Amino acid sequence: MYKNLVHGVNTLVPVINGNKVPYINFDNAATTPPFSSVIHEINRFSPYYSSVHRGTGYKSIISSQLYDRARYMVLDFVKADKNFYTAIFVKNTTEAINKLSYRLIDEIKDGIVLSTYMEHHSNDLPWRHRYKVDYVEVDERGRLDLDHLESLLKKYRGRVKLVTVTGASNVTGYINPIHKIAEIAHRYNSKILVDGAQLVPHHPVDMKPVEDPAHIDFIAFSAHKMYAPFGIGVLIAPKYIFQSGIPDQVGGGTVDLVTPKEVTWTSPPEKEEAGTPNLFGVVALIESIKTLKKLDMNRISNYERKLTKYTLERLKTVPNIVIYDDGNVKNKVSIISFNVKGLYHGKVAAILSLEGGIGVRNGCFCAQPYIQKLLKVTEKDIEKYKRDPNLYRAGTVRISYGLYNDFQEVNVLIELLRQIGNNTDYYDYRYRNPPFYS
Ligand code: PMP
Repeated sequence: MYKNLVHGVNTLVPVINGNKVPYINFDNAATTPPFSSVIHEINRFSPYYSSVHRGTGYKSIISSQLYDRARYMVLDFVKADKNFYTAIFVKNTTEAINKLSYRLIDEIKDGIVLSTYMEHHSNDLPWRHRYKVDYVEVDERGRLDLDHLESLLKKYRGRVKLVTVTGASNVTGYINPIHKIAEIAHRYNSKILVDGAQLVPHHPVDMKPVEDPAHIDFIAFSAHKMYAPFGIGVLIAPKYIFQSGIPDQVGGGTVDLVTPKEVTWTSPPEKEEAGTPNLFGVVALIESIKTLKKLDMNRISNYERKLTKYTLERLKTVPNIVIYDDGNVKNKVSIISFNVKGLYHGKVAAILSLEGGIGVRNGCFCAQPYIQKLLKVTEKDIEKYKRDPNLYRAGTVRISYGLYNDFQEVNVLIELLRQIGNNTDYYDYRYRNPPFYS
């Protein structure tokens, strides 16, 4: 319904079996195409483009004002209290979480971080790397087990300092009940970080006032998954976290006074943004936020839910399909993982691309422990992978919708999958050795 809002979706026309077909992009969980408004705004702003917080030249003043106002717009987008929280511009979600993991060293010390088996590696490894980490289990269908969360919090008797959880899984699309998790975590004096990479672009987010036990302490997200370009993301956190201590990266912009003998750090958020900031990135992110707000996050989420529900219903009618989903579309963003029995996931993804001009993703989506749980991969299997790097690994095919995808595109996918599902031996043989399966 929103196709005309997104830049370039109609320009890609792959030639499939001698015919030109419109490209269907079902890989929005990796990266979304930019809004046309974002491209337009970058163009419009380019005459003013200049270094921010670097003097009082005319362009610099305009750029700095825009950059500072942008923080408030980002905070407002997730309903974060401007007096308590700060928005730090970073490269992406991964950088945001790494920064936070470094800066929480005094809070966590030798305490425990609870992550989950559902996480993207970017919300697992930065914690593993520095702290003792334990993991909240998922059930048979891949939903987070909140009883297990509470039992771990009890077991560690106040030693858990942070619960870190994805807002929505990048494999199944399952939305986690972040406010319920926040209440539980706060009851045990732990803070909560939400990895918002897959939630923020598809669902309204409300960090809630800090007095509310269900509030979110930290959130991170990436602009390239919300219709803006790569290279800009946000970490939202209470200001006081960054007041003392030394930033993870130091240099220009982070200091107040430097003499040969001493360094006085400036205040957050500038203290946490070493080097010249990514102004075009911020211009783009703000424009994408404005567009999303205009469209209304509730409407977007409802529309994408309808598309997802329709897909799940139709997918179930396709022979030889295994879907990794519990059918609870209400608590899910527009991501679906599946396999075709008898065909390697990389092969299915290649066939969709080569026979239908449909872009999907396959593999384990930087969430290997989750894929291992969902697909019941054993320790023995993992030992086999380690011995033979050429072995095809367990994984799924993932389709993920953006707000501009439509029902007609879903029909094209389903019909091609039906053809594949009905003729798995034929397709397995026909695509027996293309060089690019991964
Ligand atoms: N978390 C989740 C849930 C994700 O889907 C992704 C991106 N696939 C990330 C974190 C990392 O995002 P980025 O690569 O933009 O840092």
